[in-house]
Amino acid sequence: MNLVVVSNRVSRGKPNEPMTGGLAAALLPVVEKTGAIWVGSSGRVRDGNHKEPFAEVEALGAGALAMLDLPAAHYGGYYEGFANSALWPAMHSRADLIRASHEDYTSYREVNAFMARALLRFRKPDSAFWIQDYHFLALGAELRDLGVTQPIGFFLHTPWPARAVIAGVPNHRELIEAMLSYDLIGFQTDEDCENFLSYVQNDLEFEVRDGVINSSFGRTRAAVFPIGIDPSKFAQQATKAMTHPDVTRLRRSLNGEKLAIGVDRLDYSKGLVNRIKAFDRMWSLYPNLKRSVSMLQIATPSRGAIEAYGNLANEVAKLVTDVNGVHGEVDWTPIRYLNKGFGQGVLAGLYRTAQVGVVTPLQDGMNLVAKEYVAAQNPADPGVLVLSKFAGAANELDAALLVNPHDIDGMARTLATAMAMPLTERRMRWEAMMEKLNSGTIQQWFADFIEALQETHSAGNAALPEPPTLWPRRTADLAARYR
Ligand code: UDP
Repeated sequence: MNLVVVSNRVSRGKPNEPMTGGLAAALLPVVEKTGAIWVGSSGRVRDGNHKEPFAEVEALGAGALAMLDLPAAHYGGYYEGFANSALWPAMHSRADLIRASHEDYTSYREVNAFMARALLRFRKPDSAFWIQDYHFLALGAELRDLGVTQPIGFFLHTPWPARAVIAGVPNHRELIEAMLSYDLIGFQTDEDCENFLSYVQNDLEFEVRDGVINSSFGRTRAAVFPIGIDPSKFAQQATKAMTHPDVTRLRRSLNGEKLAIGVDRLDYSKGLVNRIKAFDRMWSLYPNLKRSVSMLQIATPSRGAIEAYGNLANEVAKLVTDVNGVHGEVDWTPIRYLNKGFGQGVLAGLYRTAQVGVVTPLQDGMNLVAKEYVAAQNPADPGVLVLSKFAGAANELDAALLVNPHDIDGMARTLATAMAMPLTERRMRWEAMMEKLNSGTIQQWFADFIEALQETHSAGNAALPEPPTLWPRRTADLAARYR
């Protein structure tokens, strides 16, 4: 089988550079090992005066990366517009933040169609396509429209929200009907999968039986594949990173103080404001923790061109300043706040240095940082994970201290409990979490999805129905436009 993996951005994954997010971090090692080709945006755009979609292809381990320049006229409407100002907030149950124009939707569909045309170049008779994430909900339909009959799977890295929330996305019906061109749709959690099927059953009124949707668009299976990490690789990186200058400097600067660490993109789904407020509350409730517990928050800038992100960046920066102003001393800073990214090799050492890992999103598809924090710990003296019950990871990592990220007081008390947890309990919880990480690795996730895709395709979709007529057949139009 020739596997073609598609995501918005591809990552070369240089050891000293930060990953652009959980998706890149997860895909890179499996592409390297399995020989798949990973296709995505180069991050550059191009106008429409060229014959073929431009792709720069380079080897990556046994596999390859293909980086495409996306159409300049549609990139903003697709990326900052529909994908990140309509779909992202909706997927994270923030219907109040949905902003999208009809032009944005058109651009989103144009980029999905453009990607479909570009993918034809990588198609072989035994190809299978695996499309990643909310940027490409309609890519399967576009591929079918171009006559692709090979297996096409889709995996959603974000949550899938309740019916009433997804109904707030313009053109939601057309988009979700387009998703039914996929043979297999994978979700992170049971709840995401149930929410999706509930929409399909109640709003689209299609029959759903045992997770299989039979519709005029074909036969689609929806199932759950919680994404994992490579725990032993992370553990090795963490041990090695303890001598990295950034990590030794951090350790030295602590003077025996305990450290809590947070590592997040600067995104409203990550619950940063409530987290900082919880630390503020913790130092107020337990003044003895001043000087003995500090916080390192790495908040990597993300999607800065979108207003909601700019507002959040200002709000968090002000809050950190206020909290440091209230609790700080001439020789002690409660919160070290960094707006930059680190390579995973260093990050692993920072995780290992911290006695508490704080992962408190309001909503999160999985949250790989939670899993990485656990994997990076010293088995003889592991740290404690404080984890939001609304992160997908909470389903597996139920031995963490689970918190409600809307309950500031509750989080403050749990943080204090985490700081004081005795070694025996820390080890017990850590071992239980490691067992889960080792039984659900990234390699297993990849293999499970591909196996299910092949099974689903051969079980029912060998004979495809006529392509649906609900969306315009624009292939000829598009071909003309990008020629
Ligand atoms: N990450 C990184 N450097 C940083 C911050 C984060 O390499 O400075 C990586 C981190 O190791 C993790 C990913 O980015 O693998 C973040 O994934 P997660 O699922 O936690 O969140 P997302 O950003 O996908 O919402």
